[in-house]
Formats: sequence, structure tokens, C-alpha cells
Amino acid sequence: MTAQHATFGIIGAGAIGLSIAYQLAKTRDSARESIVVLDAQLPGAASWAGAGILPPPVQTPTTDPLEALQQLSLQQLPEWSRELLERTGIDNQYQRCGGFYLAMSTGEQAALAGLQSFWKIAGIETHVVIAEQWQHDQPWLAQHASLETCRRIVAVPGEAQLRNPRHLQALRLACTQLGVQFVALDSSAAQRLALDPTTHSVSWGSQESWRCDRWLLAAGSWTSQLLQRWVPDLRGVGSVFPVKGEMLLFKLPTRPFQSIINVGTRYFVPRQDGHVLVGSTEQEVGFDGTTSTAARDDLLSFTRQTLPGLLDWPVVQQWAGLRPASFDHTPLMGAIPGHPNLWVASGHFRSGLQWSVGTALCLAALLRDQPPPLDLRVFQPRR
Ligand SMILES: Cc1cc2nc3c(=O)[nH]c(=O)nc-3n(C[C@H](O)[C@H](O)[C@H](O)COP(=O)(O)OP(=O)(O)OC[C@H]3O[C@@H](n4cnc5c(N)ncnc54)[C@H](O)[C@@H]3O)c2cc1C
Repeated sequence: MTAQHATFGIIGAGAIGLSIAYQLAKTRDSARESIVVLDAQLPGAASWAGAGILPPPVQTPTTDPLEALQQLSLQQLPEWSRELLERTGIDNQYQRCGGFYLAMSTGEQAALAGLQSFWKIAGIETHVVIAEQWQHDQPWLAQHASLETCRRIVAVPGEAQLRNPRHLQALRLACTQLGVQFVALDSSAAQRLALDPTTHSVSWGSQESWRCDRWLLAAGSWTSQLLQRWVPDLRGVGSVFPVKGEMLLFKLPTRPFQSIINVGTRYFVPRQDGHVLVGSTEQEVGFDGTTSTAARDDLLSFTRQTLPGLLDWPVVQQWAGLRPASFDHTPLMGAIPGHPNLWVASGHFRSGLQWSVGTALCLAALLRDQPPPLDLRVFQPRR
């Protein structure tokens, strides 16, 4: 068996792995650096399943590491979207569409009051909307939403969205154009991936193997499974586990409303072509990426309570994705201690799209031994 060689090997082609590959590829010295991405397209991968909601970033200088990661990402994402469109012709439909936050119970009202205080400190523009005014300004919603129990509506004009599948297609095509090699694995090969720590080669029982100077694990919810096989002593290294989220997709003839509607952890996201996403559930059921009747009923019941008019239109799709969660809701980003050629970027839970660009900028720097744009101490895998 002869191993092919690349400078950087990335395992996983979700939003995180692809963004890092893209950042490395567009800044590489092609005479000296090469990149390979191994991916298995496992059922339940999160990035294709996400809603693509991008809350407005904190507008003031911040020392909070998660806010800084979000700020860095969301400042760059409009530019990345333009750049990807130019390179590939694929429009990820990034749009600053605004968001409404609705409080339907006293608990949600208290939570929204807390959010409002945070937005104020963070310099994020918001305004309280009077229900009558909302009804006047939003004719479709006035007719089809159920606002009897609504206690408060807050508008957040800086909220944005993009369409995940298109963004991923654009990243993948741009990477290919920039010379990144992709190796498609089937799920049984993915289960057998083995790292030889002496030669830095990754193999999967076939004739093919790759020897890379630096390996990065961006395998989403499956990251810890690989780490457990590859790193015998994982003491102190945080773990990543799957949290399933399900979504329904309605199809209307035209876009019925412009802004994302958020109610607690649930939402309605209107796409440009009349699709409306309703999401999302949260369940810890291991690596089960299948859809369920219970989740469908749950999301339909949420729709009936909030936007019953949507039920006049068909549900054209239901899907599930496994969010990679970490025990402290903070992603793992950095080197694996004791393994000089192994890095990890995973555990982005409900925010992997909105944190993807910042993650890419940081990891591309780390993989080249350059100083990252953010202080990454709290993200260290060992903590
Ligand atoms: C329903 C839902 C709604 C969401 N909404 C939003 C949102 O609005 N905004 C937001 O920012 N985030 C959202 N998220 C979260 C976001 O989607 C995730 O945080 C993000 O996609 C994680 O990306 P990832 O690349 O780490 O993981 P993944 O997308 O899961 O990618 C991991 C990849 O690694 C591959 N892989 C795994 N093991 C192996 C192996 N052994 N060999 C080779 N390949 C392997 C998998 O096949 C997969 O392609 C949502 C998630 C869900 C499920």
C-alpha cells in the first residue's frame, strides 16, 4: 500500500471542515502546500440540516470568547458569500432579513427581557413592536398568525440568514477549484479510519491511504468516536456528542413574510422562493439521524399555536440533523495534547454556521503555526 501525501488532511466536510479547507486553500502557497478532505457524508450530518439563522453580532468590543468568535465570523460572512458567488456562481442567499422575537408566555417574556438587556449592552439595534402596528406592517402575518397570547414582540433588524445546502455546495466547489482534493468514504470505511501516529498516515483497509503533515478532525458529532480510537489517553480532553434536531419545510407559492420569527428556541425561517422552515426539536438519542412522527407532531403543534395559516400549505419535507454538542457548550478548537500532528474543530452545537468563518480563520492559522486572530484558550480541547 503506498500512501499519497498532502500537507493538510481534514476529516469531515461539514460547514466546519469545508470552511477551514477553503480558508487554507485560498491563502496557500500552491508550490508548498496541498490539502485533502476525507468525508463520509454520514446520515444525520448537521450542516445540511441547519436553518442558517445568523443572529446579529455584538457591536461593541468584547472579551467574551464566544461573542468574539461570533463577531469575527459574522463580520466576514457577507464578504465570504460575495466571494463564493463570484468564484462559483452559487448564491448562498445570504440576506439581512431581520428577525422578530415573540414572547407567548410569562416565562418567554422574562427570557426576552433578559435578551433585550443583553442586546442593549452589546449595541445591537432592536425595537419593541406594538401588536397593532405589526398587524398593519405585516399583512400576511396579520391574517395568519395567532397573537392572542403574545405578550411582546421585539424586532431585531440585524438578523440574517443563508441557505446551508447552497453555502456548502459553494464552499465545496470553490475548494475544488482551488485544488483541494476530496476523498469520498462509505460509512464502513469511515468506521475503520485508522491513524498511524509514526507515519501520520490515515488508512481505512483499502489500498488507499493518506499521509499528511497535519491532520484536523472536523467530524461533527462523530469526532469523539475517532478520538477515542486514535488517542489512547484522552484524560481531560472534552468530548463531543450528538443532539438531534428535526425540521419541517412548508412550500407556499411566494414568500409570505420577510423576517425570521423566533419563539423561544423555535422559529420560522422564510426563504426567498416561498419555502418556510419550521424548527427545531432537541433530543439526545445517540447517533439516530432518522425523522420521527413525534417530532413532526410537535412542530405541527407549534405551527398551529403560532402561525396556523401555514397549515393551509403542504409540508414538502422533514429532516433531522445531529448537532455536535460539547459538555460546556463551547467548541473544541486546537491541538490534541501529546499528538503533534493532530488538531480538532468540533462541538459547535446550535451555532456551527454562524461560527464557521471565525473557526476557519483560527484553525488555518494554528495549522500553519501562526498566531490565531482570537485568544483560543477557552476552546482548547484539554480543559
Ligand atoms: C436542525 C438544525 C438546525 C440548526 N440551525 C442552525 C442555525 O440556524 N444556525 C447555526 O449557526 N447553526 C445551526 N445548526 C447547527 C449547525 O448546523 C452545526 O453546528 C454545524 O453544522 C456543525 O458542523 P460540523 O461541520 O461540525 O458537523 P457536520 O455538519 O455534522 O459535519 C461533519 C462531517 O464529518 C463527516 N464524518 C464524520 N465521521 C467521519 C469519518 N470517520 N470519516 C469521514 N468523515 C466523517 C460527516 O459525514 C459529516 O459530513 C443547526 C443544526 C441542526 C441539526
